[in-house]
Amino acid sequence: MNKQDINNIKQLLSSPKKIIIVPHKNPDGDAIGSSLGLLNYLLKGNHKAQVITPNDYPGFLKWMPNEVSILKHDSQTKQCDDLINEADIIFTLDFNAFHRTGNMEAVLTESKALKIMIDHHQSPDDYATYMYSDVSMSSTCEMIYNFIDMLGDLDLVDADIATCLYTGIMTDTGSFRFSSTTSTTHRIVANLIEKGANNAKIHDNIYDTNSYNKLQLLGCALNNLKVIPESRTAYITLSQDELNQYNYTKGDTEGVVNYGLSLDGIVLAAIFIEDKQEGIIKISLRSKGNFSVNDMSRTHFNGGGHINAAGGKSYSSLKDTVEKFISILPTYNKALNNE
Ligand code: 5GP
Ligand code: MN
Repeated sequence: MNKQDINNIKQLLSSPKKIIIVPHKNPDGDAIGSSLGLLNYLLKGNHKAQVITPNDYPGFLKWMPNEVSILKHDSQTKQCDDLINEADIIFTLDFNAFHRTGNMEAVLTESKALKIMIDHHQSPDDYATYMYSDVSMSSTCEMIYNFIDMLGDLDLVDADIATCLYTGIMTDTGSFRFSSTTSTTHRIVANLIEKGANNAKIHDNIYDTNSYNKLQLLGCALNNLKVIPESRTAYITLSQDELNQYNYTKGDTEGVVNYGLSLDGIVLAAIFIEDKQEGIIKISLRSKGNFSVNDMSRTHFNGGGHINAAGGKSYSSLKDTVEKFISILPTYNKALNNE
């Protein structure tokens, strides 16, 4: 985003506008954090601003400032479509292509509103008038902080905005441990704490609010963990029956894939989760070093993401999907053993 873009956006936001903010489907901490951080900032400018998510999100995100105002497109479709069709500006956050919003793709594609993309995923589509896309960023929340800074409004960042942005930076960096976490990320996080983000409370709200069933499901997942030493790979499966047995609710499998990656010597981890309702196997891939799970997911699993964290899906059965994964691994053995 250059100086001219920023000046144009500043001009645009100098009078009240109807603004919609949209994150990706199955929003995570960074998607909700960036959306609510931006919402709370825009509301200070007297805009009519509204966050619309494609669908629901995990309970451990349902405490964030102004979270209760969020509309969900899948259950409030007419109301959401009307708001989108009336909007002057649509911010699209934490995704790189409209299809990442699921069933919102059509209404977003047809909308005449001016689009502003803020995102850190690879290969962004070219739909936005103003695009702030940077794959080196730890999180979209870090980018929202920079965006507010570029607009010269850091003094408007209050405890609510700081709380939202801290949450997304924390969740997308695996609590500040992934290599995307830079000294600048830490400086921003320090500023957010000074602005009123309560770091201990935020960690507690996100990570220490597990249900008993969620931990039991984690036990089941760890029991299913398999290792393929020659490919330095670990994978986990969870069938629909297993999810049902532990009363699965949204978010219960978040982060489980990382247990595979925590094994000594493992550089690629996968989890395959059966979703009978959607008729898919949801796949999450994680890696260490230069091994790109974004490439692997794009090539084989209808997905994408980042170099060390990507997702995708398969329309085959759980068994066939795992077999496919195992069958393609040898083509990656050289790269995996070079890490
Ligand atoms: P997760 O495995 O946690 O669902 O996602 C890891 C990363 O990959 C996130 O940045 C997420 O946005 C991205 N991702 C997840 N699923 C998909 C997908 O189906 N397509 C694409 N392009 N990216 C995905
Ligand atoms: Mn993100």
